[in-house]
Amino acid sequence: MSHDQFQEFYLELFKERWPILNQALLKGETQMARRNGWLTEQQSQQQDFHQLSSEKWNSLLEGFFLDEKKIVPHRVESDLLDFYVMDPASIFAAKALQVEDGHRVLDMCAAPGGKSLILIEMLKTSGEIICNDVSTDRRERLKKVIQNYVPRQIRSRVWIKGQDGVQYGLREPESFNRILLDVPCSGERHVLSDPKAIKDWSPKRPKGLEQRQYALLSAAFLALKPESLMVYSTCSLNPKENDGVVGRLLEKRGDFVEVDEINSDSLSGAEKTKFGLIYLPDRCGFGPLYVSRLFKRNSFRS
Ligand code: SAM
Repeated sequence: MSHDQFQEFYLELFKERWPILNQALLKGETQMARRNGWLTEQQSQQQDFHQLSSEKWNSLLEGFFLDEKKIVPHRVESDLLDFYVMDPASIFAAKALQVEDGHRVLDMCAAPGGKSLILIEMLKTSGEIICNDVSTDRRERLKKVIQNYVPRQIRSRVWIKGQDGVQYGLREPESFNRILLDVPCSGERHVLSDPKAIKDWSPKRPKGLEQRQYALLSAAFLALKPESLMVYSTCSLNPKENDGVVGRLLEKRGDFVEVDEINSDSLSGAEKTKFGLIYLPDRCGFGPLYVSRLFKRNSFRS
């Protein structure tokens, strides 16, 4: 029954595209093996990289497209793992935040941490990052990921926290130069592959998520410094969880915040939406991933 409701819901949203999209979501996604940027090229080439063809290398995202191939990360001399396997569009989303040396960064919903690793690398030699996640289990995974990929001396600039992200708005107003908000979302790829998730699905689920996402986005807006960027991302197809949530913030806070258009040259396959862009698997083999970048012009406190 809820499988039928799910199908009806997405058929209504995507019309004739839905059957193709549905099939693409059921297939394995194309992933990317992203090189650990803390290792030298020589260190990370000690193992399986030679198996991967150079046409599959994307120099802007610093990773190999894996297609069907599966490879296992290895520990190299420094005891760090040499690459992290993730969705190429997730790498794109993290890079879109344009973190720079010296920034104070908040990754509000960080676990298991693939995007955090990229933000930490972008901090290079100074600045700090709070990697926050409300789930205790997922935070344990996040800690392991950071231990496995980030050198010990850099970890002193990485703080792992377990707050409800909504609290940052009031507790730390206008304190971050960059915020990544990779929200909990419908994750339709996961729902379709998990019999329990699809059995429990009802149209109330995306509705509830929209409310949580908007509360988190409003908090991120409050916590962001003026003249600063934040990225809102989801792994959902549902436009209400994507442009819908961003549109609500723009309606309410449009005097302070605006969309900052993202150049998608580093990863082909993006489709423009009203306030951002989306990668959908029927077109590019990976995703879904929606990304919107917002610029906070001025303080709401003055
Ligand atoms: N950014 C992560 C990555 O790239 O590995 C994936 C994040 S996942 C899409 C969303 C995360 O939000 C989950 O780990 C979940 O535990 C966390 N979460 C859900 N509600 C939250 C809240 N109110 N505050 C902070 N984290 C929350």
